Amino acid sequence: MELSIVIPAHNEEHSVEPLYAEISQALEAVDGDCEVIFVDDGSWDGTFQRLQALHQRDGRVKVVRLRKNFGQSAAMAAGFDHARGRLVVTMDADLQNDPADIPALLARMEDGYDVVCGWRRRRRDPLSKRALSAVSNWLRRRWTGDPIHDSGCSLRAYRQECIEGLELYGEMHRYIPAILSWRGYHVGEAEVSHRPRLHGRTKYGFQRVPKGFLDLLLITFWQRYSLRPIHVFGGSGLLLAFVSVALGIYLLVEKFAYNAALGDRPLLLLAVLLFIVGVQFIVFGVLADIMIRVYYGQGGRKNYVVEQVIE
Ligand code: UDP
Ligand code: MG
Repeated sequence: MELSIVIPAHNEEHSVEPLYAEISQALEAVDGDCEVIFVDDGSWDGTFQRLQALHQRDGRVKVVRLRKNFGQSAAMAAGFDHARGRLVVTMDADLQNDPADIPALLARMEDGYDVVCGWRRRRRDPLSKRALSAVSNWLRRRWTGDPIHDSGCSLRAYRQECIEGLELYGEMHRYIPAILSWRGYHVGEAEVSHRPRLHGRTKYGFQRVPKGFLDLLLITFWQRYSLRPIHVFGGSGLLLAFVSVALGIYLLVEKFAYNAALGDRPLLLLAVLLFIVGVQFIVFGVLADIMIRVYYGQGGRKNYVVEQVIE
């Protein structure tokens, strides 16, 4: 199988049929066998019935129906688990991505990339959404060092091996390129067109802002410190403990050399607080280290990714 297209859909009853029509047209330009995997992410409108009808019309259409709404990342992961293609393309079900861009993405893969991400240069969404995503893209580029412009675009092409072992939960699908470039895969991008949403409603509102920020914190932490958590926690812990000891020495000198009373000094409280917090941080670091060992040891996970072995 050459290509699998994975499409998470949650309440997109008016979009899936026209999307299918556009996809089958785009697939005419692709050599080899293709499959189109719709993941019905707990829709309660007619999405599933329409998908079932599409499957009956065209054997290339597979439908994976989730028991309830698990979220876009989980739906994507379910699609990946069922994808058999050498290449895997993901896209939204709401017709905002244009299937006509798929051949160009695949052509870009031939330049030696493992992932090619769509860049919605002229994005057709409300201004508030575009502004928020500009800020979050900027922050992500700074923190994770992942250089692509638009990590909110689901239209992407992957080589099958990159998506194996991706742990997608929450709303982590936005950070797949960051995770992959951290694992040493070549991440490229290609401009794609974008269209306004015609049917149904967006599934994301302003709640995505704090969630996205926390996800970014986690990803950054994993990227920078997951193999040496003691360096972050222990480092800040040592610093705080050092400051508190210095404060303590200063107070002791005042007491014994100048006979000052310490009972009502806020500085004393601060020194004690910093010491306790510092020790806590160091203990956190040790605990985090133990957890990382458990994570990599018993989970059978590896802290490296092999490209090739020549023996
Ligand atoms: N989606 C999903 N499960 C969810 C939320 C969204 O499968 O819980 C799908 C949705 O049907 C669409 C895609 O993810 O195909 C992107 O969602 P949406 O268009 O609402 O996001 P936006 O384009 O507004 O960022
Ligand atoms: Mg959309």
